[in-house]
Amino acid sequence: MSRKNNKNQVLEQLLVEDYAAEGKSLSRVDGKVIFIEGAVPGDVVDVLLGKNKKDWAEGKAIRFHTWSASRTEPFCSHFGVCGGCKWQMLPYEKQLAYKQNEVEQNLRRLGHIHLPPVMPILGCDKTVRYRNKLEFTFSNHRYKTWDEIQNDPLPLQPRAERKEDPALGFHVPRIFDKVIDITTCHLMEEPTNLIKNTVRDFSIQQGYPFYDIRRHTGWLRNLIIRVCTTGEVMVNICLAYEEKTERKKLMDHLLARVPSITTLLYTINAKKNDSIYDLEPKIYFGKGYITEWLEDFQFKISPKSFFQTNSRQGEKLYQVAREFAELTGSETVYDLYCGTGSIGIFVSKLAKKVIGVELIPEAIADAKENALLNNMAHAGFFAGDVIDICNDAFFMQHGKPDVIITDPPRAGMHDKLVRKILEMQAPLVVYVSCNSATQARDLQLLHEKYEVTKVQPVDMFPHTHHIENVVQLKLR
Ligand code: SAH
Repeated sequence: MSRKNNKNQVLEQLLVEDYAAEGKSLSRVDGKVIFIEGAVPGDVVDVLLGKNKKDWAEGKAIRFHTWSASRTEPFCSHFGVCGGCKWQMLPYEKQLAYKQNEVEQNLRRLGHIHLPPVMPILGCDKTVRYRNKLEFTFSNHRYKTWDEIQNDPLPLQPRAERKEDPALGFHVPRIFDKVIDITTCHLMEEPTNLIKNTVRDFSIQQGYPFYDIRRHTGWLRNLIIRVCTTGEVMVNICLAYEEKTERKKLMDHLLARVPSITTLLYTINAKKNDSIYDLEPKIYFGKGYITEWLEDFQFKISPKSFFQTNSRQGEKLYQVAREFAELTGSETVYDLYCGTGSIGIFVSKLAKKVIGVELIPEAIADAKENALLNNMAHAGFFAGDVIDICNDAFFMQHGKPDVIITDPPRAGMHDKLVRKILEMQAPLVVYVSCNSATQARDLQLLHEKYEVTKVQPVDMFPHTHHIENVVQLKLR
């Protein structure tokens, strides 16, 4: 292989050797590591390079000479284009094996600490239609596959002259202004596809303008659907501006076609970005929220609430966290990064007191409401940054922690919080993580006083490389 670090260079006939982090795989050429997207170990592929450095490069598999024996037939017609379920070509047991390995490797290589044997990963019973929330995007520029472009009798149009080609679906990775039109998504129970296709077809028929993310024109922006295991269905249609008559027409049509919708909302979003967290969704039909049950706990989910996106597996994750907490009923438990309070509520029957801390005030409002719904009188929930809230006065006021449960975002815990935990010396810490690399870094710091006593990976997202990991730590 040429030592020149060319971008757009094609490396031919590479045998893919192993899996790498973030769902990529790798091959080695003259000692240089090539990270490859879209291939699995055992494939022989040509790779189009993107980033190309001295010791490593990354690229995409563009031609397959040999398919790996461990491949399986993807079940979705959008596989390979849509960025959603990148591992569909792997049998589920293989996916689980790679995830287990990733957690073990990360904790060992990055954590540099003594570990107990990692418990076998808890897989999902249900590997399709496992989500409870999906967000579809409207775009006036439908993403076309290479085959479609080649078979199109019309030449490619310059961007300025392009005709409207509306789509409702998902963004294509790294292409911000186009959306792949999804016919059937297998990630969530019906009536998800019925809702999406009804909204898209009616909107096209009526000539409603789909959003143009480059020009910030158009009316229809996002369609957020949530389906609970109870069968409750919440739909939130995000629009760039108010157009009352047409909005009513669209919403009435949708309700008539999909009577199983239990609540329908709309949100006017005139901003440049898609986020609705600083906006006020308005109720058009129903009570404006849905209720999900995990075990015999109920959770109110409002349109802006965060909730674990895989309810059944979320239940398993929380059961592991509760088991690892080893509660007897006399403990003061801190639930850090508590979101809508779900872990705290889950452990509440076995604790004397639960104190939750979370950055987003709306999530704390939901947590308080959820605590009431579950008759949890011995709880307090506080909004703010964990590193500001969790100071000496706070612990003094609410009690010395017997158990700390922490569930930070992908970046892991702030260094300052780790130091505070070391200072507080709770006898037991449960660390729930969605990124075992940052978890390993934090475990190494906690190792100053804590021993890792249990490690349990849990798969929440089949066909993706994402993996949750729960760790129990005990004070030495
Ligand atoms: N434990 C919850 C949520 C975990 S997701 C559950 O199981 O549902 C991580 C949460 O950390 C998010 O709700 C996010 O808003 C919150 N968060 C992120 N940074 C934070 C910070 N600095 N202080 C407090 N909370 C934070």
